Amino acid sequence: MPSSAPDNLQNFDVIVVGCGVAGLSAAVAAAETGARVAVLERSTYDERGGNTRYTTAALRMENEHAVSDDFVQRFLDNCGYHIDPDFAASTVLDYANWPPLARALPFTDPELISFLAEGVPPAIAWLKAHGVKFGGIGFYGLTPRASPRIAITGGGLHLIEVMTAHAEKIGVHFFYETTAQSLLQTEEGAVCGLRATRKALGTQRFESRAVILACGGFQGNHEMVVRYIGAKGRYLRPVARGGYYDKGEGIAMALNIGAAPAGDFAEYHAEPIDPRSSATEPLVMAYPYGILVNREGLRFTDEAPGPIDASYEDTTRIIAEQSKGIAFCILDDKINAIEHWQRCVRTDQPPVTAPNIATLARTLGFDRKAAEASIDAYNRACPKEGVFNPRALDGVATAGLSPVKSNYAVPLDTPPYHAYPIISSNTFTFGGLKVNVNAQVINSDGEVMPGLYAAGETVGLYYGKYPGATSVLRGAVFGRRAGEHAAARAGALAGR
Ligand SMILES: Cc1cc2nc3c(=O)[nH]c(=O)nc-3n(C[C@H](O)[C@H](O)[C@H](O)COP(=O)(O)OP(=O)(O)OC[C@H]3O[C@@H](n4cnc5c(N)ncnc54)[C@H](O)[C@@H]3O)c2cc1C
Repeated sequence: MPSSAPDNLQNFDVIVVGCGVAGLSAAVAAAETGARVAVLERSTYDERGGNTRYTTAALRMENEHAVSDDFVQRFLDNCGYHIDPDFAASTVLDYANWPPLARALPFTDPELISFLAEGVPPAIAWLKAHGVKFGGIGFYGLTPRASPRIAITGGGLHLIEVMTAHAEKIGVHFFYETTAQSLLQTEEGAVCGLRATRKALGTQRFESRAVILACGGFQGNHEMVVRYIGAKGRYLRPVARGGYYDKGEGIAMALNIGAAPAGDFAEYHAEPIDPRSSATEPLVMAYPYGILVNREGLRFTDEAPGPIDASYEDTTRIIAEQSKGIAFCILDDKINAIEHWQRCVRTDQPPVTAPNIATLARTLGFDRKAAEASIDAYNRACPKEGVFNPRALDGVATAGLSPVKSNYAVPLDTPPYHAYPIISSNTFTFGGLKVNVNAQVINSDGEVMPGLYAAGETVGLYYGKYPGATSVLRGAVFGRRAGEHAAARAGALAGR
């Protein structure tokens, strides 16, 4: 049951906005130092936890003590775009000597990557000491993963339940159905609380010595999604119910008072889902064993360019670029000869099954003639040689077809045919706030904004392609750090 909120909304040491992995890590870390902590959460108690509540919580780690070998490299591969070489060179200096423009620059600075990678094993040990359980994880594909994973046993929901209970036990005050709207500042500019709307109570002031924004990205805010990601954003939707609560106020309220933006505002973590389903993360990952066509009945991408865990984001983003943001995965009945192929789909909706492509096209709304022509061309381009092997990258590729299909190129010639519609979900957005390794928000002049912290999706860390299974870790590491640092600041201001 939720803990009762106090009447006095002043004299908090630390206010945390949001109670996903980042917010709970922050709140517990701060409260464990003796700080008086409040958590403001827009949802009800039963729906609390945003994206974290619904995540499988796969973690890009070899084991509980080591991140994957490619962890840092994947971030470096995607650390921004054509950065001015002078700025890049300045990052070899100690952070304190970076030019202010570099500190405010929107790129994943190496300080943050190192801090994250090194902070992961201690954060896992810390969560474990609080009762969060870790173990292995199943997979949504048939081929081996490109990189290793462990997971939180019971997923993000288990973390939410364990960490909320602990936070309540150590005296954190939770205010549910309370939505943070804007930040309060002292005359000197330090952040000293915020205004929030509380259900049935209207707007109230909450005062504190530090504020930690851990209230997710903006995937639940259609206007911001279209503003930043562009017209294709119209067709995106959160991958699970929790994302609808993340409406970007944390990012907006900090930008409004001068915070530096960071992370790729034009990108998001894309996953291919079945638009007919309301289930959590209704993935459709069977397309490597068939073809993808758009509403015009045309193939538009290589369906099997590499390991599915390393390629689905690119493929899904291309689906988002198709008309109405939708594509169709067409399989033939040979799919049923592949043992456990259903592991590639998590939708609760069955495929549309029909004796011919015409019926599939009519049912799902794609161009019949063009799709039939696409399948004919694809079938002719499939090799006569080669051994189809759905459990490895078999190299059975089309010849003379554009776009090529690099693996699993066997003809679609065995009725009945099966098809799933696929859209891109917006698991979370990449645009957010620039922070330093203390999770302190940096302003657009490269200076720390006193009293303001950010963690989790509210931080802008990712560019280009998402290094899979790192977002829960980011929330835990930076959330915990924010809580510790904010509590220390509050203690110093209070003379403790
Ligand atoms: C289905 C699914 C599967 C995923 N799989 C993985 C995975 O396997 N591995 C991985 O690393 N990541 C995964 N992710 C991503 C990862 O779960 C999230 O990025 C991460 O949990 C976000 O944590 P957070 O604390 O930053 O935000 P959230 O967990 O979204 O929490 C934000 C909280 O803030 C609240 N809030 C928002 N705005 C306000 C406001 N103005 N005032 C008050 N409260 C507010 C929200 O209600 C919410 O409770 C997945 C996500 C989903 C949805």
